[in-house]
Amino acid sequence: MSERFYVNSPLAPGSVVLSGAEAYHLAAVCRARPGDVVCLFNGDGAEYPAVVSAVAKKQVSLEVTAKQSPIRERPFRLEIAASLPKGDRADFLIEKLTELGVTRFVPLRTERSVVHPRTTKLERLERAVIEASKQCGRNVLMQIEALSEWADYAQLATLPANRFLAHPAGGSPGKVTGDVVFAVGPEGGFTDEEVAIAQAASWKIVGLGPRTLRVETAAIALAALA
Ligand code: SAM
Repeated sequence: MSERFYVNSPLAPGSVVLSGAEAYHLAAVCRARPGDVVCLFNGDGAEYPAVVSAVAKKQVSLEVTAKQSPIRERPFRLEIAASLPKGDRADFLIEKLTELGVTRFVPLRTERSVVHPRTTKLERLERAVIEASKQCGRNVLMQIEALSEWADYAQLATLPANRFLAHPAGGSPGKVTGDVVFAVGPEGGFTDEEVAIAQAASWKIVGLGPRTLRVETAAIALAALA
């Protein structure tokens, strides 16, 4: 696979100019030269092979030669809602969920959550989605939603019918097929009241074995189950 670069604008065969962080990456880090072939994507589901035509300090000009639509997305919706872990562990979580083809990530505010991401943190996580998509070949970006209160989120009418809340006392998730949402609690776990809210809204309570997993391990294991 050619080196991939993200463009935050519509793409089509013809000329395009890259600027900002991606131009820096292509020009200074990859030392692009006219004639080099790269791959551009913008999250619309396609990818666009392109030939470098000129390299300046802060801009790279390219000629898009085609539009290709390889299938790299799951054929169903896979949503993960989790209380974000601290610091770099949140970036790690987002990177892995992107690689695993998660459709949407919803950060949760629960009784025992300690991380309540604001706009700048969410923007940083969106950047992590782009970096992971460049590396893994996804042409659709995993959506990162704004912070949601657990009680509101758990009762949303728009959630898939397959809804699972991870809790150490839960049973086996069994085989999971079709649109699905998994919820993971904070380091201190979901409270009994939060579990009761889930049960009243038809969430199945599932366990992941006898060991206590970190938030990111539980979320990644659940994404891999789907
Ligand atoms: N002592 C906490 C509890 O009892 O829930 C542990 C919390 S754990 C560090 C963080 C979250 O990961 C939990 O709220 C749960 O969603 C998920 N999790 C961790 N280990 C799990 C397991 N063995 N089975 C199911 N979920 C687990």
